[in-house]
Amino acid sequence: MAEPLVIVKHLKKYYPVKAGILQRTANWVRAVDDISFNIRQGETLGLVGESGCGKTTAGKAMINLVRPTAGEVLFNISDNCERSEYMDIAGLSKRGRRRARKMVQIIFQNPYSSLNPRMTVFRMMREVIAYYKLAPADQPVADLINKLMATVGLQPSDAHKYPHEFSGGQRQRIGIARALLINPKLIVCDEPVSALDVSIQAQIINLLAGLKRDLGLTYLFIAHDLAVVKHISDRIAIMYLGKIMEIAPRKEFYTNPLHPYTEALMSAVPSPDPDRKKERILLTGEVPSPMNIPSGCRFHTRCPLAEAICQQTEPELTSRGGDHKVACHFR
Ligand code: SF4
Repeated sequence: MAEPLVIVKHLKKYYPVKAGILQRTANWVRAVDDISFNIRQGETLGLVGESGCGKTTAGKAMINLVRPTAGEVLFNISDNCERSEYMDIAGLSKRGRRRARKMVQIIFQNPYSSLNPRMTVFRMMREVIAYYKLAPADQPVADLINKLMATVGLQPSDAHKYPHEFSGGQRQRIGIARALLINPKLIVCDEPVSALDVSIQAQIINLLAGLKRDLGLTYLFIAHDLAVVKHISDRIAIMYLGKIMEIAPRKEFYTNPLHPYTEALMSAVPSPDPDRKKERILLTGEVPSPMNIPSGCRFHTRCPLAEAICQQTEPELTSRGGDHKVACHFR
């Protein structure tokens, strides 16, 4: 089995809530509340949950786009496949963060807001090349940029257009090309298809899957839709209110989901077979605020199986055999 590329240990990201004239900290938003997992070299880990569950913050904290409150993110910086050497990128200085950014890249949900509207694609890419010193200053970079445009299914001449001249799917292709430019070890895909039409979503997912296969990439693929991650993920983790509730290899996950929250999410995924009727599990109640997380199991206010112990004791994420882990007292 491949060595982990990233080992995340007890990662937390809390935001202070200020109040009063003196703007004292009155409370904390516990967006990511002590999560641990790893991502293996060449793997795609799908991270799924409802809006506001902390999945995007987890992805950003992992790559230091937002500074974690606590925890470690150990990144394998060794190029030697026989020997791993890990660096904690969670607590890096500014200089160290620049080095870490050469190893990780992010593809954003809204490609338009992540591209500079006043620059052509060529100029944007040339700036990235200069910033990371990816080529000698006197060396022409057109070949490199043209090759990348072709890799993501665009014409080399498209590099001389501005972002507003592209469709949503094409802009996401540019976001992918820009991420590939620095040859990262890990790409965080933050809901990369959520803002796209359904017909375009499949094209972008197929492109990402093909690039992973051809270039040996590793992805953290964040989504709110289980149907989207199914085709691209090797393992899937479910997040609820800042915690991981279940994590399992894809086949095991889709055939034997154990956590009641996962079951409810799975029941909402449409079946491609019209004759196969699925019973929809409707969760009652609102998602609690991350400022006021319920005691014990944080899912107990909405769980159809909750019992007294669930209000008092928080279940640990523990193995149910192999790589399948669940945080529930009864599953
Ligand atoms: Fe439901 Fe209790 Fe399991 Fe939490 S621990 S998921 S409340 S049964």
